[in-house]
Amino acid sequence: MFNAANNILFLFTNSRSTHYMPGESSATLMSILKQIRERPPNVKIPYNLNTTYCFDSESFRYLVASSPPNNIQFDPKHKDSYAESWEISMKECQRLFEYIIQLTPHKVMDTLSLNNAKHIIQLLTKPLADITKNIADNVKQCKEHSVEINEFSGTIEELSHKLYIPSVEIITVPLDRPKTVCSDGECCEEEIINGVTDITYTRECHSPCYLNNSSKIGSTELLKCKAFNQNSNNDLAPGESKQSWLRRTFSEQKPSEQCLICGHSYKKHLTLVYETKMHINDVTDQMVHNEVKSVQMAADLKERQLRSLDKRVAELNAESETIVQSMSMFACFLANNALTPINDAFEQYVRHLIDNERKGFTTSDADSRVTIERLEQMIEQYKDEKALIKSKMNEPNVGSPGLITLAEINACVDRLRMLKHKGGEISRMLDKQSRAKVNRECRCRGTSIKYTGTKTAPVLVAALTI
Ligand SMILES: [Zn+2]
Ligand SMILES: [Zn+2]
Ligand SMILES: [Zn+2]
Repeated sequence: MFNAANNILFLFTNSRSTHYMPGESSATLMSILKQIRERPPNVKIPYNLNTTYCFDSESFRYLVASSPPNNIQFDPKHKDSYAESWEISMKECQRLFEYIIQLTPHKVMDTLSLNNAKHIIQLLTKPLADITKNIADNVKQCKEHSVEINEFSGTIEELSHKLYIPSVEIITVPLDRPKTVCSDGECCEEEIINGVTDITYTRECHSPCYLNNSSKIGSTELLKCKAFNQNSNNDLAPGESKQSWLRRTFSEQKPSEQCLICGHSYKKHLTLVYETKMHINDVTDQMVHNEVKSVQMAADLKERQLRSLDKRVAELNAESETIVQSMSMFACFLANNALTPINDAFEQYVRHLIDNERKGFTTSDADSRVTIERLEQMIEQYKDEKALIKSKMNEPNVGSPGLITLAEINACVDRLRMLKHKGGEISRMLDKQSRAKVNRECRCRGTSIKYTGTKTAPVLVAALTI
């Protein structure tokens, strides 16, 4: 994916004063390139005579000024230096084109699709973590219910009321406007429904908050939120006016690591674009209800119900596995295609869900422990899976290294959307996240893009933000 790095060229303008050399910019540029090279994924951007070009347009300006209708008279002694400038710049231009012609073209579509894939992965992180926790809740409910049916010794009539499949669903409620909330125990309310912990963030530390944060928990981006920096202009709502430059300059600029509203660390905060509510829906087969008439039939139905519960547990476990595998692949894909190191947002968010579950300890000790253990196991599985993919990527003697392709990522996203039990919820959550992001970006565009031209030699480092 980094073949684009070979096509990056550095053009230095206004270079007459530095004798047609990069001048002071060179040291800065080299230190940036060194950082990029030394940090994973270690992209080497060539910086040598072939990729650097120095120009000056003074001679062109001289021509325009001295020709009609301007006819400005210059001291003849300057003419030589303009002629020299023209010669050098023209040769540099020719050298530039000759070099460009022989470069291998980089397919721009590749970069665009790459960005698109990265974008979807980022949007999927929180929904997949939420669903993983939800599967853990569902499996726990099914297993408990199996035990209950198995050990049941009441009447046929009572048994008929037990013949259902417990199902915990996540209902996603889109927020009109995103907000930054705190996940500390003091700022949340937990509710235990049938032994399943549901957390509601009760404190809104900043709302509406249009921080471009992709719901990452504890991200340093949060320090740009007004809840941590009163003078921030990074999370303004549409139409909200910026603070005056003067006021910002004279007031405290440094963000606080503690929330100005609730006092807890930024590490406990996150930005929400949708809220989730838990809904327990016990699915009863009406046919079953009517059928229970004899003892033998009750025994058969009990058997059948236990088998259905086992099947559901197995299917949900398989879906959980698919999610973990997909997320491991996504994480490796992101790490391999980024110029800056990426925090593992998935693991961080699952850890946050484990913490939430711990809050419920006092009320439902055993219940929470089962879910926590399961989620912890899942993190381990996720780490192992990532290590396996990474080792495959670095394996020598393989024709093409095991790089993850865009097609594989897209197929993986489709597979997640198609999952029998949780595919629908994943799709809904992903669509809600995308919509919120599009709204936010539409709003940002046009207001915050500013270009300030400078007279100093600009350094062209294109496409480095991918
Ligand atoms: Zn708080
Ligand atoms: Zn904010
Ligand atoms: Zn707060």
